[in-house]
Amino acid sequence: MCGIIGYVGPRECKAILLQGLERLEYRGYDSAGIALRETGGLDYIRAVGNLQQLKEVAGANGSKATHGLGHTRWATHGGVTERNAHPLEGCEGGRVAVVLNGIVENFRELRGNLQAEGHLFTSETDAEVVVHLVERHYDGDLGDAVSKAYAELEGHFAFVVIHHGHPDLLVGARHQCPLVVGVGEDEMYLASSIAAFL
Ligand code: GLU
Repeated sequence: MCGIIGYVGPRECKAILLQGLERLEYRGYDSAGIALRETGGLDYIRAVGNLQQLKEVAGANGSKATHGLGHTRWATHGGVTERNAHPLEGCEGGRVAVVLNGIVENFRELRGNLQAEGHLFTSETDAEVVVHLVERHYDGDLGDAVSKAYAELEGHFAFVVIHHGHPDLLVGARHQCPLVVGVGEDEMYLASSIAAFL
């Protein structure tokens, strides 16, 4: 069980994501991370340990990103390492990333197939298959790629995907785990619990 939050809207989101993660921190203390959509690509900040460690690494840099993801992890598959901290990147790390809550039960089979197709995995997590599946199915329509990836997954999970080529979009999906949508003024959130918005 972990905490996930995504933001898309007009406001700079680094502080919003970190604040949302604070509210979700009770859901996982192993590691935490954020992905920010910067002009040149997705930028990642991850740290092992509680949220305080992430905040220290994230510092007060002046990110102007208005689109991003955050995660606090309770490791189920793969050790407690920075490499296994979410957001997890696809082969083209600057383009697409995922945060996931829950467990992908058929990840071994999916991982084997994706590796045979040439996908390079950088973590030991079950969750990383999701971002590679999205890459495999992506053909310009992120929603479509996520629904095709979703159809291949077994387990119980909720996840959110960000793609650098889609500045106004976050795509989430869930199966037996909660995922809530927050609607603000010209902005939207996706999170694993309403606590993230409080
Ligand atoms: N199964 C994922 C992992 O180990 C997510 C775990 C969670 O929900 O905390 O990275």
